[in-house]
Amino acid sequence: MAGRWQCDARQRSGVAGLEQHYNNAGRFAVTERLHGLSCPRNPSVILILSVARLLAAADPYSADRERMVREQIESRGIRSAELLRVLRATPRHFFVPVADRAMAYEDHPVPIGYGATISQPYVVAWMTELLGPQKTDHVLEIGTGSGYQAAVLAQLAGRVYTMEIVPELAKSARDLLSALGYSNVTVRQGDGSRGWPEEAPFDKIMVTAAPPEVPQALLDELANCGRLVVPVGRWLDQKLIVIEKDARGRVHRHAVGDVVFVPLRPGGQ
Ligand code: SAH
Repeated sequence: MAGRWQCDARQRSGVAGLEQHYNNAGRFAVTERLHGLSCPRNPSVILILSVARLLAAADPYSADRERMVREQIESRGIRSAELLRVLRATPRHFFVPVADRAMAYEDHPVPIGYGATISQPYVVAWMTELLGPQKTDHVLEIGTGSGYQAAVLAQLAGRVYTMEIVPELAKSARDLLSALGYSNVTVRQGDGSRGWPEEAPFDKIMVTAAPPEVPQALLDELANCGRLVVPVGRWLDQKLIVIEKDARGRVHRHAVGDVVFVPLRPGGQ
């Protein structure tokens, strides 16, 4: 798909710099690297290793997460090194209900209440790769849910705006994203099919609930050279659609596969 429209050189720029973008979640990756050191020679190294061991002990899911990335995501063809690193660094178990944490890294969606689900890990990876977020991008997500997809986007893009129609989910995602240190995400409660006009235009838009048709407001808020990834259709008859706007504002659209998402609710429901 990349390379088809005039805009792609710009879209591909700005990938560098992810290394500088560690947040609280990314600490676990640093920890794992420190574990590789052997024979510490001075007290400060011993201290760092002790702290690293404590941090690793605080993340009992690091092995599950590594297995998820290798067996569900890399093995199915996701190749972006930045994306794989972010998936390894994002503590997905915090985004599912406490009682379901053991399921957080399994190969399926998990219910999070209010008729919503956190998407299957592979679907998050696939949609993120299709979207191709860049470090300078202004990104809109519709359907915050748990906040996990927003956390992944936050580590790859410049700024993420995410909308959730269920007030309780918007609040819990806002609190969790803030507690985990994802400071470039803004969560708003409201009907995402109307877009977010105050922050438009957006370089990238991802919709994680399925409307029967692509909402016109989202097409209008997509920047020239921008990309929109959206599941479209009715229950059990949905296609994942990628829409690209070229430099002249013309829209190009193609379906990339079958998906199952909860419906995008009309406003007020
Ligand atoms: N991206 C989420 C999963 C989303 S599930 C994650 O990472 O966990 C789909 C979400 O879309 C649900 O939370 C649902 O409440 C929300 N939703 C449905 N209709 C909506 C609308 N019109 N505007 C905003 N959010 C909506």
